[in-house]
Amino acid sequence: MSRFFSETHQNLVPYVPGEQPQDRTYIKLNTNESPFLPAPLARKLAKEEAKKLRLYSDPEARVLISGAAAYFEVSEDMLLFTNGSDEALNFAFYAFCDRNTGAAFPDISYGFYPVFANLYNIPYEEIPLREDFSIDPSDYIGLEKTIFIANPNAPTGLALSRSEIEEILAGNPDHVVVIDEAYVDFGGETALPLVKKYDNLLVIQTFSKSRSLAGGRLGMAIGQPALIKDLNTVKFSTNPYNVNRMTMAAGIGAILSNEYTKKNIAKIVKAREWTAEELKKLGFTVTDSKANFLFVKSSSISGEMLYRRLKEEGILIRHFDKDRICDYNRVTIGTMKEMKTFIKKVAKILEER
Ligand code: PMP
Repeated sequence: MSRFFSETHQNLVPYVPGEQPQDRTYIKLNTNESPFLPAPLARKLAKEEAKKLRLYSDPEARVLISGAAAYFEVSEDMLLFTNGSDEALNFAFYAFCDRNTGAAFPDISYGFYPVFANLYNIPYEEIPLREDFSIDPSDYIGLEKTIFIANPNAPTGLALSRSEIEEILAGNPDHVVVIDEAYVDFGGETALPLVKKYDNLLVIQTFSKSRSLAGGRLGMAIGQPALIKDLNTVKFSTNPYNVNRMTMAAGIGAILSNEYTKKNIAKIVKAREWTAEELKKLGFTVTDSKANFLFVKSSSISGEMLYRRLKEEGILIRHFDKDRICDYNRVTIGTMKEMKTFIKKVAKILEER
């Protein structure tokens, strides 16, 4: 820390993203990226757009918003595009929480939530998951706080139904409920049909997972116009050109490539179910994940050891140092071929013991 760092931020503990090592080629099952290329049209439009990088991007993202509004069947003023959905979450913490209106989220969820809360000095409550790692919607009624729920949750992969989300919305009419749907395309039930009915619902989605654009950084918030206007106030007070030209073009290409996206999702779901069955045969506990990852625990090797041994074997998975889940690993679903290699290596590691 330099002697110049603001006193306000001196105790800030930053978010630690999953490893992106450059030392060798790994089978990367650690950061929930898609194993598939972005859609051909997304790549083509991004490449063409490179010629225009001299010029600023459209701060109002009009072409992208008009395509997305048609696709998601909402009006254009109900949409905001961001630099990854992390930025949408950032804006939501900034816009809808403060010292008086704290935040609430599950104790085991996306690790960025407490980081944003701390960044803005927002008091927060971490609500314990049930013993089986599921979220109990009744814990979220009348909290008098801004609520953040990842659905499906990460890293557990477990999902709430739309009616359970609606229960939470109806139980907090005077507070914003942010539903982070980063993984919803892999089997969750989106809350989007509720946005017109609930003025306190903000749905956040990403193009990083099902649309293979993690490196492009494109996220999205959908909610009633008043909420989106507030987020725009924050955006235009920090970074009006938050989405770059090539990413906007890629985003349009991705929206227009829905068949391609759907095919990839089906492949991931198939590989997920296959991998889950194989891991169970090897003695693992596997949660009923609706995401593009599995959350798994071996009966014979610690989460940390499995992570380390797999890394030596050229496969990266994610291990979390948190008490209640330190025996678990989160395994991103890659191609079927990658998952077969993964299972072979896991079997070999367990045999050696
Ligand atoms: N929400 C959740 C639950 C996530 O796991 C992630 C991915 N790390 C994000 C949001 C952010 O993803 P991105 O910024 O790539 O859209």
